[in-house]
Amino acid sequence: MQRRHFLRQAGALAAVASSGGLLAQTPRSMPAPVQAPALGQQPFAEPKPLAPIRASADRVISVTVCTRPFRAQGPRIEAERMGRRTVIHHYGHGGSGWSLSWGSAERAVALAQATGETEVAVIGCGAIGLTTARVAQRAGMKVRIYAKERLPLTRSYLATGVWSPDSRICTTEHATPQFRALWNQMARGSFAQYQRMLGLPGDPVEWRDSYALSDVPFNQPAGGGGEDDEPDYPSLESDLIDDLRPHSQPLSAAQHPFPVPYARRYTNMVFNLAAYGRMLMDDFLQDGGELHARVFESPRQFADLREKTLFNCTGYGARDLLGDASIIPVRGQTARLIPQPEVDYGLYWRGHNLNVVPRRDGILVQAQMPGDFNNADTTVSRATTDAAVAQLARLFPAS
Ligand SMILES: Cc1cc2nc3c(=O)[nH]c(=O)nc-3n(C[C@H](O)[C@H](O)[C@H](O)COP(=O)(O)OP(=O)(O)OC[C@H]3O[C@@H](n4cnc5c(N)ncnc54)[C@H](O)[C@@H]3O)c2cc1C
Repeated sequence: MQRRHFLRQAGALAAVASSGGLLAQTPRSMPAPVQAPALGQQPFAEPKPLAPIRASADRVISVTVCTRPFRAQGPRIEAERMGRRTVIHHYGHGGSGWSLSWGSAERAVALAQATGETEVAVIGCGAIGLTTARVAQRAGMKVRIYAKERLPLTRSYLATGVWSPDSRICTTEHATPQFRALWNQMARGSFAQYQRMLGLPGDPVEWRDSYALSDVPFNQPAGGGGEDDEPDYPSLESDLIDDLRPHSQPLSAAQHPFPVPYARRYTNMVFNLAAYGRMLMDDFLQDGGELHARVFESPRQFADLREKTLFNCTGYGARDLLGDASIIPVRGQTARLIPQPEVDYGLYWRGHNLNVVPRRDGILVQAQMPGDFNNADTTVSRATTDAAVAQLARLFPAS
């Protein structure tokens, strides 16, 4: 989540009615006062304490860096005639590719349906390529994917893995009424699709509680988040789809165990990318999809393909392939700590550049740094990860 984005959300928050007592957590340092239930009233079970995260540098199992394919004007979803082929460009989803993938693919596939072709090619096998392929299959098309890398070796696999549909999706200046309408449709379409994936084997998608922590009141700037050199992004989620998920709620000191003066609890969707990516690949192949390893040096090579309608889902790769300089790299580094299945909550510590997601394949620790915008350098900074893990450890002093 973006720091500024959370601030805006926090300003407009309304408490979720009736959940305060039910969800309250017992501080680990203090025994909870025991109160006798009123006569005839069955108490709910005492809320479980939160399991501490074992935050230490020797538990880091991977550190990766990836660039978000950001476009100031938003993703490119448009058909272009190239010789005898129709190429449907479908790339540039910034920090929202997983979140918007299904709704965005519906838009792209509608353009393909207009060509009347029923055999189509998808170039790219990341979040966007695979979901485009799945939506095309559901529309009755025969689909072949051609890609340099496939999941889990694509950039998409290096994402944080949360519902973040307006993260670096366009700049405020480009959030026109037309774009807002398109985004609204993409976000709602994707959201609905993800609710159908809950409870599946391997938990590809889950809802998780998270705690936003702060040293200063939430309506005051916290500083130090690493995004100050970025453009202004519109708060599309709170403007347009505020009805889709519960609002965050303030917690009293007795309702959370963290050594900070201000905390709120919110709920978010987590994408367990290992299980989710595997599911997408399996479903694609089971529905008769074909996958071919192929590198395109130039769009002229699209003419070599037998399909007349192609989706160009090359993500950041479109920058080189098409010479499309509208794609701006926004660097992001994430690390994973050894999985702790008992940790079922996320964390976001304002002003400390710390974002933690309880994924099944590890506790994901993200740190956004100053200078990440328009930065294509994918060199790992182990020192940055160690600093983030050390910050995280400060939240668990007793562990
Ligand atoms: C650090 C980080 C955190 C993120 N967190 C989130 C998040 O929590 N939630 C969210 O919704 N989004 C998140 N994102 C954004 C999301 O990951 C991207 O928007 C998404 O992965 C883009 O997917 P894609 O399929 O377009 O690109 P890619 O995954 O890059 O796939 C491109 C495909 O095209 C192929 N390709 C490229 N060029 C060629 C070529 N010349 N020839 C043949 N094949 C080619 C590649 O091999 C690959 O298969 C994050 C991004 C980053 C970097």
